[in-house]
Amino acid sequence: MRYLILSDIHANLTALNTVLDAAKGRWDKAVCLGDLVGYGPDPNGVIDRIQELGAVTIRGNHDKAIAGLMDGEEFNPVAQFAVQWSREQLRSENRKYLVELGKGPRSVENFSIVHGALHDEDEYVVSPALAVDGLLSAPTELTFFGHTHIQGGFTFKDDNIGVLHMKLREGGQFSALAVEKGTRYLLNPGSIGQPRDGDPRAAFAIFDKDKSSVEFWRVPYDIEAVQEQMAREGLPEPLILRLSFGR
Ligand code: ZN
Repeated sequence: MRYLILSDIHANLTALNTVLDAAKGRWDKAVCLGDLVGYGPDPNGVIDRIQELGAVTIRGNHDKAIAGLMDGEEFNPVAQFAVQWSREQLRSENRKYLVELGKGPRSVENFSIVHGALHDEDEYVVSPALAVDGLLSAPTELTFFGHTHIQGGFTFKDDNIGVLHMKLREGGQFSALAVEKGTRYLLNPGSIGQPRDGDPRAAFAIFDKDKSSVEFWRVPYDIEAVQEQMAREGLPEPLILRLSFGR
């Protein structure tokens, strides 16, 4: 069984479609770690596509805010503007879809998925100190998380925490990680729609259960087309510019 692991799509349908083209024929079941919407110009298109894929999906903080389940007051002004804009775009059945999205953590066969941290779906797991609780308390050895928009993650073996920084060479498709029994993993596929690890290419992962391997992918997509679309929609400039830098 091969799982396509998607996260932090952020209404970037162009990036999502490019990812799905690149991953074609390489997966059996799709999983989505939340933040389908927010920031980008295609909230309805992304929700429709994720439903078509039949992906096992949990909610992210932007999904909650845009669904109206939280007020988004802790968001910065630019993100708040995007929340408001996205709310106005959403078709009513897609708003309902967001409202009803389940909360992580959730178990999928032999691994778990969560948007932020195991004990708090909205927490950013950005350091070993923040990862250790999740590494130790997760119900499965392998957990996928999102929210930070940084591809990579953390491992725990023999009382040691390891940090995985993925850096795929230009022109490469993916780097593969062998998943070993007895090691605990907290892995982030990276963000499809708004990467923040300095690499503007869309990020995702494929977990092959039978081969016990995780491929960390990066694919270039038409960033300029998305930026033009965002400008036409009047979305804030900082959200448009950051796509070029992956920050
Ligand atoms: Zn996000």
